[in-house]
Amino acid sequence: MEKLAIIGSGPAGWTAALYAARANLEPLVFPGRATGKDLLPGGQLMLTTDVENYPGFPEGMKGPEMMELFFQQAMRFGTRVVTDEGVQTGDAVAAGLFTPFQNVASVDLSRRPFGIEGDNGFACKAQSVIIATGAKANWIGLENEQRLAQSGGGVSACAVCDGALPMFRDKPMAVVGGGDSAVEEASYLTKFASRVYMIHRRDELRASKIMQQRALENPKIELLWNKVVTEVLGENMITAVELQDTVTGENSQLAIDGLFVAIGHTPITAFLNGQVDLDNKGYIKLADPYRSTTSIEGVFAAGDVADSVYRQAITAAGMGCKAAIDAERWLAAEGVE
Ligand code: NAP
Repeated sequence: MEKLAIIGSGPAGWTAALYAARANLEPLVFPGRATGKDLLPGGQLMLTTDVENYPGFPEGMKGPEMMELFFQQAMRFGTRVVTDEGVQTGDAVAAGLFTPFQNVASVDLSRRPFGIEGDNGFACKAQSVIIATGAKANWIGLENEQRLAQSGGGVSACAVCDGALPMFRDKPMAVVGGGDSAVEEASYLTKFASRVYMIHRRDELRASKIMQQRALENPKIELLWNKVVTEVLGENMITAVELQDTVTGENSQLAIDGLFVAIGHTPITAFLNGQVDLDNKGYIKLADPYRSTTSIEGVFAAGDVADSVYRQAITAAGMGCKAAIDAERWLAAEGVE
């Protein structure tokens, strides 16, 4: 019987584990299995090159290095993790975030203690659960897009994370998408770029009117209507994208030094199988927006899985801290020692 199980291993999951471990809750974390190229233990920072906006690191730090430090700090205080070998503690997990961890295959939140099943033979009961599984950025789905995104080759899904990097200064960049995020990212990028192209597949933006106005009135932003990206070009760094016109079918090339994909995020909530209330975009609905409580007593949520607005490492870490404190207080009130 676990006092607290934490599902997820981004900034929210490890911060929750750190706080819970220091409160002697001996948290058990399911960090998740590396599946495909874009879902990794450690979360989205594993796909980020330089993190320059996390306070306390004036020189910046590589995303994967930062997550390894988060992990080590949580493990130092007695966090346990579910690996393919079963439950392991810090001493045993020498491979760090590259350890084969188990994914959560299913949860039963219908009664307490809650049931959690891993995808490789492990199962446990837990008095409380923190869900911190994050959200994954949607990508166009091109091979070179993925390769350059992972190698720091000028392709990213987060302008706030990567847009201010020196390699983009005074260079032409492009944002794909026509929603609020795309406009927000394009506007942000105009601080650094020589020109920002917004590539949108229709002739009308999905973004709210005020955001549309912001994009249309910004002299540095140029809208490329009815266009989809069919290829990303470049060996080590992106050099251009190939575009296709969705109306005429005409192909063209656009030379750019940075590509920001802003076509939405998908929160990782499918494994909950409808047991926790979600909002209309699939994010976990917090019972109280200032807390981490969900529709199920004893189940808490933290990080991007419950946040479609801010989506930053620092906000996720803050939510992880709140969830651990909420869980600790709830367990104490329930008389669980
Ligand atoms: P979104 O509103 O779902 O917009 C996604 C955009 O990407 C749409 O324009 C869509 O085109 C396009 N798109 C989707 N799949 C594509 C594909 N495969 N290829 C090319 N284009 C594709 O997502 P979002 O902009 O991330 O916003 C998410 C939510 O957060 C929204 O509710 C938004 O209002 C909110 N938000 C608000 C603010 C703000 O108010 N400051 C800032 C950011 C986000 P179509 O239009 O053709 O479908």
